[in-house]
Amino acid sequence: MAVERIEVSRGAKSRRGRLRARVSDRTPGAASRPTNHLDRVLRMALRRVGDFLLPPLCLACRTRLADHDTLCADCWGDICFIRPPVCDRLGIPLPYELGPDAVSTAALLRPPVYDRARAVATYDGAMRALIHRLKYADSHEGVRLFGRWLAHAGSELIEGAALILPVPLSRGRLFRRRFNQAALLAGALARETGIPHEPIILERIRATRSQVGLSAEERRLNVAGAFRVHERGKRLIAGRRVLLVDDVITTGATVEACAQALKGAGASGVDVLALARVIDMARFLA
Ligand SMILES: [Zn+2]
Repeated sequence: MAVERIEVSRGAKSRRGRLRARVSDRTPGAASRPTNHLDRVLRMALRRVGDFLLPPLCLACRTRLADHDTLCADCWGDICFIRPPVCDRLGIPLPYELGPDAVSTAALLRPPVYDRARAVATYDGAMRALIHRLKYADSHEGVRLFGRWLAHAGSELIEGAALILPVPLSRGRLFRRRFNQAALLAGALARETGIPHEPIILERIRATRSQVGLSAEERRLNVAGAFRVHERGKRLIAGRRVLLVDDVITTGATVEACAQALKGAGASGVDVLALARVIDMARFLA
């Protein structure tokens, strides 16, 4: 019926006819069915060509799959997602439910500078492979999935967050790597949640040696005072809760140094969200 109406009105030369054309254009579904069908066929054809050129592969092990942006069953099974109950401060799993706001012994013995941390999964298995590909293989195809995972794992932190910030890289490392993996994740989380993303207000003011192989204390000393919030950033974060995003939390030394800088610059609270967390109690207590 809508199609008939638009055909009549297209033929009409009178003002009434033109008006009818405008009205019938707004009629739901008017003249859109053939176009929609064509669109669908075209989209399907383009998708097939795209899949032929860039076949959907498991983001971790590269097995051929039916869809993009996902993992094969084996890799899904190989990710140890962190689920409640967790320590409210560190986000590490607790052995049993201790009620809301329960805190682990590790957090009681050494409370972190940040308020709360959460991570999607433990840093091992397929999650380790995914992060390795993101960081070193220049492979950013998993970013959309990671954004969804972060939004889910950090739902409690997202509620009160005014801004999302990535842990910054030093200029030298950013130049060599050409991208900051934490900023890619923070951007994906911002798109997922609608919270503003401010990738440059927190900066690394001195290059630090790689944290790999350092003890917990060495890591703390290595990054102490390495971050600052620049002047425009101070105005943006004053009195607001910020959500800091990183790829992996190992001992937490880096995110604590960032939290120190953010709180020193006036943030009312700093929460931390990562794709993975090293769960090794010995390291927490070292
Ligand atoms: Zn796989």
